[in-house]
Amino acid sequence: MEFRQSSKLSEVCYEIRGPVIEHANALEEAGHSVLRLNTGNPALFGFEAPEEILQDMIRMLPQAHGYSDSRGILPARRAVVQHYQRRGLEDIGVDDVFLGNGVSELVSMAVQALVEDGDEILIPAPDFPLWTAVTTLAGGKAVHYVCDESADWYPDLDDMASKITDRTRAVVIISPNNPTGAVYPREILEGILDLARRHHLMVFSDEIYDKILYDGAVHHSPAVLAPDLVCLTFSGLSKAYRVAGFRSGWVVVSGPRQHARNYLEGLTMLASMRLCPNTPAQFAIQAALGGRQSIEDLVLPGGRLHEQRDRAWEKLNEIPGVSCVKPKGALYAFPRIDLGVHRIHDDERFVLDLLLREKIQVVQGTGFNWPRPDHFRILTLPHVDDLESAISRIGRFLGGYRQS
Ligand code: PLP
Repeated sequence: MEFRQSSKLSEVCYEIRGPVIEHANALEEAGHSVLRLNTGNPALFGFEAPEEILQDMIRMLPQAHGYSDSRGILPARRAVVQHYQRRGLEDIGVDDVFLGNGVSELVSMAVQALVEDGDEILIPAPDFPLWTAVTTLAGGKAVHYVCDESADWYPDLDDMASKITDRTRAVVIISPNNPTGAVYPREILEGILDLARRHHLMVFSDEIYDKILYDGAVHHSPAVLAPDLVCLTFSGLSKAYRVAGFRSGWVVVSGPRQHARNYLEGLTMLASMRLCPNTPAQFAIQAALGGRQSIEDLVLPGGRLHEQRDRAWEKLNEIPGVSCVKPKGALYAFPRIDLGVHRIHDDERFVLDLLLREKIQVVQGTGFNWPRPDHFRILTLPHVDDLESAISRIGRFLGGYRQS
């Protein structure tokens, strides 16, 4: 008798760690070296974790072998509260914070606690595909609002408004955005929040890249702009603090929580069902938020991430038939391939062919719920020399590439 996967998974799609990985693994097993430009994992590219975070975790390890409170340890939750209070989110306390095994776990809990079968969540296209995957798995419907490439990848508010129905329960905002690198200006956020206000939507704001900003871009938190709305603000240590493997993140609930009591009971139950987040990694949070923010050295002009972002963007735009909007934040570029110049109708096949020929692994645009096969995502994490060489090889490959 065959064991089959649950039919609940049949519509769930998560391509960042998808089937192309098996091919990349097989190539490595056969002795090839593969340049993995598919996951935003700073440690793979020589980024070191801040020393004070490591030292704090090591020092606290002997006291971290038990389960913690299921929301997380108090000093870390206190540090999260103080961090957001400094940013203008005043009316929050330690009971409004849940720590998690990365933002990923909290995204899954927050969506599961809300969605009834058939409920709709507004999610950007392109998106970080976990949001779509967990919505679908929860029995909900991911309704994608278009982000406009010709307008710096900002959300198209008319498109968003036209997609709101009486089943819409929440809107997801990802700024700085993965995969586009867009950082939404205040007016765009105000427009989204106005729609949320008029249609009684919960706001899920994924701000994991809030400190990875270039060219003076300013990050605004929807929770600060709209204290009258129930907002869940997600962030964590994986990116700005370069400790993705610790699996450490948080969500802060703000706004009129009296209108979300029942929802929050559900969220609290889900937090208890996973017992607690990984305890040692919770000890990294206070050290991270309280200490010197060394990410600034990397994102300011002359910093490694800034330089790599610049070079990646310039080199991508030098490829005939490729154009790329300049990322203002995060760790990615999301170039467009002109399908009039390059014949591609299946971007997963394109990505696989690129892997097999050039041993470079990127992620196809449709993996981010982008509707056409005309984009791919590349990391801006590798050293400049590696990035330049990878992008030259992608350009050369594209030049001779045709799909039948
Ligand atoms: N949100 C966004 C927009 C991301 O890009 C990622 C990871 O790439 C996550 C959340 C998940 O982060 P974590 O490592 O905290 O689970």
